[in-house]
Amino acid sequence: MPNINWNELEFQYMPTKSNIRYTWSDGKWDDGALSTSSNVNLHIAASCLHYGQECFEGLKAFSCKDGAVRVFRPDENARRLSATSLHIMGPPIPEEMFLDAVRRVVKDNIEFIPPYGTQGSLYIRPLLIGTNPRIGISPSDEYLLIIMVMPVGPYYKGGITPVEALVMEDFDRAAPKGTGHVKVGGNYAAGLKPAKFAKSRGFPINLFLDSATHKYVDEFGTSNFIGITKDGTYVTPNSNSTLPSITNKSLMRLAEDMGVPVERRPIPVEELAELAEVGACGTAVVITPISRIVHGDREFSYGDECGPTLKRLYDAVTGIHYGELEDRHGWLFDIE
Ligand SMILES: *Cc1c(COP(=O)(O)O)cnc(C)c1O
Repeated sequence: MPNINWNELEFQYMPTKSNIRYTWSDGKWDDGALSTSSNVNLHIAASCLHYGQECFEGLKAFSCKDGAVRVFRPDENARRLSATSLHIMGPPIPEEMFLDAVRRVVKDNIEFIPPYGTQGSLYIRPLLIGTNPRIGISPSDEYLLIIMVMPVGPYYKGGITPVEALVMEDFDRAAPKGTGHVKVGGNYAAGLKPAKFAKSRGFPINLFLDSATHKYVDEFGTSNFIGITKDGTYVTPNSNSTLPSITNKSLMRLAEDMGVPVERRPIPVEELAELAEVGACGTAVVITPISRIVHGDREFSYGDECGPTLKRLYDAVTGIHYGELEDRHGWLFDIE
């Protein structure tokens, strides 16, 4: 057994037993193999290094109440990774291959999955890179898909604590018809400076507006925007430059199950004043409640505790993760 203090895990890289690697060459994928190395041997002119021909995913495996290990909606990540890859002229990733890769690597690292009750999970990070030397700009012919895993703790140790967000006025995240809807590393490199700007002013997260007009809410730096209106409706932007979050998709479904109306529509900045609850959602944290949003000299407050609707949604999705609540939509995939 690895010597890990499950209660002190954070969301950060940690070496585990193995990762799994598949190679695309001559127009097809190989059968993949587990590797115990934490390094890759790359050509210095590889297309991923120079021109960012790279994309990634993030999903989690959980130790459930009944002792089984299950992965949350990996079929969704498979489809999103394939769509992202095609968008940057990479190869398609067959869903069955992706699911098999996840099963193999999770199984091989089963001892690194935080036990039930610790609130932790095994974070699964697929990475796709173009590996051919390219100095003239064109897509690579060869690719490497690596799936690495690492145990992570709950983002919020002492319960869910709301954080403050700063609206970006001098930075945009993604162009309206650009790459905001795909999970490419370049979006994150471009987001480092705005995130630093917000952090240096005391805001853990930043909120981007739509790049074309700056009149509508787009998304937080690394997570989708969700709001609960005063009359209890779940609202989230239907922008084409935000990442289609699987967490958001799941929360919308659970909201509907609870009888909470769901609206996907443009959210004007002025509406921030009308919302009762605001949250940021994504796989790493599930939901981060927002206590306050600052936009220039205006500010909007949502309370210093997680609001009741977001709390119910948080409990509903985490209950499914750990097999404490019935998985009515068949979101969990068994390992083995
Ligand atoms: C990954 C990501 C999210 C969250 O997506 P999930 O599928 O819920 O993890 C949200 N916004 C951005 C920009 C992302 O890259």
